[in-house]
Amino acid sequence: MAGVRELKHYYRGEWSGSKSTEYRDVVNPATGEKLAHAPLASKEDVNAAVSAAAAAYPAWRRTPPEDRIQYLFKLKQLLEDHVEELAQICTQENGKTVGESRAELRRAIENVEVACGIPTLMQGYNLEDVASGIDEMMIRQPLGVTAAITPFNFPAMIPFWFLPYAIACGNTFILKASEKVPLTMQRAFELMEALKFPPGVLNLIHGDKAAVDALLEHPEVRAISFVGSSPVAKYIYAQAAKFGKRVQCQGGAKNHVLILPDADLQTTTRIVSDSAFGCAGQRCLAVSVAVTVGEARNEFTQEIANVASSIRVGNGLDKDVQMGPVITAQSKKRIEGLIAAGVNDGARLLLDGRAGNGATSAGNFLKPTLLDGVPAASALSATEIFGPVLSLVHARTLEEGIETLSRSPFGNMASIFTSSGAAARKFRYEVPAGNIGINIGVAAPMAYFPFSGWRDSFLGVLHGQGRDAVEFYTDKKVVVERWPKEWSRKF
Ligand code: NAD
Repeated sequence: MAGVRELKHYYRGEWSGSKSTEYRDVVNPATGEKLAHAPLASKEDVNAAVSAAAAAYPAWRRTPPEDRIQYLFKLKQLLEDHVEELAQICTQENGKTVGESRAELRRAIENVEVACGIPTLMQGYNLEDVASGIDEMMIRQPLGVTAAITPFNFPAMIPFWFLPYAIACGNTFILKASEKVPLTMQRAFELMEALKFPPGVLNLIHGDKAAVDALLEHPEVRAISFVGSSPVAKYIYAQAAKFGKRVQCQGGAKNHVLILPDADLQTTTRIVSDSAFGCAGQRCLAVSVAVTVGEARNEFTQEIANVASSIRVGNGLDKDVQMGPVITAQSKKRIEGLIAAGVNDGARLLLDGRAGNGATSAGNFLKPTLLDGVPAASALSATEIFGPVLSLVHARTLEEGIETLSRSPFGNMASIFTSSGAAARKFRYEVPAGNIGINIGVAAPMAYFPFSGWRDSFLGVLHGQGRDAVEFYTDKKVVVERWPKEWSRKF
């Protein structure tokens, strides 16, 4: 394709043209401009990357953890030095504002920092004299070739929920980045060449379902990390089990926030609006449903309409813009369809972001939308919208509010806004979600805590980030040993 850059896969420490003839355009969602032409890897491409990763494993595994983390210290500095460049690329391909891209890069770097603690984090434990003269120890060993499959909404951050821990633990790693936004990781891998990792330790494959299936089926891939929608998470979970792989699958979300009348409603409204409409609602921790309790209803409803309607929508590269486009034209159409379905089911449109909004016509722009009173029976109540749409529902009591959100099939995040410690504790104790916010709009765990979704938002046992990541990327070996004196030569 003349004038548009063609991407390559990265394995064995070099860039390789694709063996596949299938390609996908990478498009700027704010302008419609074609940014690149990305290959969709064939099974052959994936097999070549797995061979490279498998060949690199024995020596990498034997590299002392202390030496492995020296690469990560340099990686941290490399990312620090290129935050601005990577943030611009992230915004061009994803649409979010540059401020939002910078913020996700900070979280990516934080994960690299945590993985630098591997010499301590990876330690096992032991006990002398489990029986007379017998000692027992548990040691952690890496798994081998590991792979991660990541979504479009955090092109810079989500690959780093996995990459630093996997390699710090002594595994080799293959990233299958989202085919919608491959450029941020393409650039990150180009930059990482300067770190001179042994060839095959880090590998990048561009592709879609065919590449994912090839990774799932490959006998040398020991562990798969996935982040994306729940239906694909369920598929990958089942396939990984079928092929005997360790797997962690982070799925979709429909996050609720409970607003009690004793909360500071002005501050709450601002925070809830940021959560619902930041990244155009395409965050797995975005608030999607605001449940007002009792008297909170009137003031919050008025305030949120004022705050949401003042959000400046446009190209995320422009300094004053507060909300960018959604990822694709299909996504925009799907979100518009869901808004219509909500209205059909009886919800009232307080703010309609579908109408012409003055932004570039080529972009996938929607404005913040507020749907008031989505009936519990509406399919929308349990559907992930993943766009700038906030549903408002009302509950008479805290208990009724908790009941409402407990009906959601998802359990990624739930937040409460209140000044009551007792209400906050009840919420924290009873709510079936893995990430809880108390007076927090986006309860994103820091890198040294697990990213802890529940229910349809997570399939597996060990989550991404922190100590869970170390558990996920290592296997335990238990050694029981006896050294009888009488068997030894006398010295
Ligand atoms: P997606 O499920 O469409 O794609 C995610 C990845 O899976 C991509 O790399 C894609 O190539 C691959 N894929 C897509 N369809 C596949 C199939 N049929 N078989 C095998 N692989 C397939 O998700 P997306 O649209 O890129 O991202 C948005 C979704 O991700 C939302 O549902 C959001 O809630 C979720 N998400 C969850 C978290 C979390 O931590 N739980 C974080 C970010 C995003």
